[in-house]
Amino acid sequence: MPVKQQIARQLQQAERPVLICHVSPDGDALGTMLGLALALRRMGKHPDTTCQDPVPTTFHYLPGADKVLSKPTGEYDLVVSLDCSDVRRMGTPYQSLSPRSKNVLLINIDHHVTNLNFGDLNWVDPTAVATAEMMLELMETMDVPLDIDIATCLLTGIVCDTRGFRTANTLPKVTAAATRLMEAGANLADITSRVFSERPLAAVRLWTQALQETHMEGRILWGVVTQEMRMQSGYNANADAGLVGFLSDVNEADIAVTFTEKDSGEIYVSMRANRGLDVSRVALSLGGGGHPQAAGCTLQITLQEAVDTVLPALQATWREQTGQ
Ligand code: AMP
Ligand code: MN
Ligand code: MN
Repeated sequence: MPVKQQIARQLQQAERPVLICHVSPDGDALGTMLGLALALRRMGKHPDTTCQDPVPTTFHYLPGADKVLSKPTGEYDLVVSLDCSDVRRMGTPYQSLSPRSKNVLLINIDHHVTNLNFGDLNWVDPTAVATAEMMLELMETMDVPLDIDIATCLLTGIVCDTRGFRTANTLPKVTAAATRLMEAGANLADITSRVFSERPLAAVRLWTQALQETHMEGRILWGVVTQEMRMQSGYNANADAGLVGFLSDVNEADIAVTFTEKDSGEIYVSMRANRGLDVSRVALSLGGGGHPQAAGCTLQITLQEAVDTVLPALQATWREQTGQ
């Protein structure tokens, strides 16, 4: 039986599954998890939704966003990992499962090419633009009727991971999936506006500081976001406020990368590739993962050491891939 059908059967048999999406959640992680939770509740199940880190305010509009737990509660009969390429991406919710719940079936649903197939049932489809696109397929397999709330969750995932239908993998099957979600009531204009057009002033202040010092080395454009910059600007998320996307739009850059100093002192490295180049291999080799065009990793070293480690690796992969 194809793995998608096996997963459908397991979900139908479960009573109390726990859903886990990745740390520092994005719209695909949250949208997929909350959409599945709604479908399971509708099927008479009692799922918990969990994530190590809080739901960013951008995504508070998602139905069920207020029900995301930072820790599992009690015992479960199924564990479902969503949009995670390895066990570590599930973070503390997985680690703090009771020994009994850790022993139940683990389902891994994901679209990262770097996925390590860590589940008991692994449905990994790198041709899917978002895990939410796979979830729509799964719901259609299970004959779950879509409603506006489920559709809003899943369309958010697709919109986020395609950067608003702008990535090269936005094929007709993707716009067709989006059409089905809109027909179920999801409001594309509203989702797009919430996800891309709302930016706190603190983010602009952070960019102002970080942009003072960006460096172009060969065809690689890079910048840093220090703890001090985040504090001074009032930007308190452990992230670069989307700066890496802005840098990757620069004509001269084939690769863009930001190094963000997190509150913990770890360095979050966010990479983007243009012109069909692939940065996921470098991310994977450094213990992270991602997609060819967008990948990342977290390093337990200083900012300077991170720069000294990542840039030569990116230069090498650039030379290898471009033959220059
Ligand atoms: P970001 O730069 O945060 O937008 O992430 C780009 C892509 O890399 C996303 O698909 C992430 O899920 C993935 N990614 C980032 N960090 C990691 C990591 N430590 N392990 C696996 N995948 C990661
Ligand atoms: Mn994600
Ligand atoms: Mn995703």
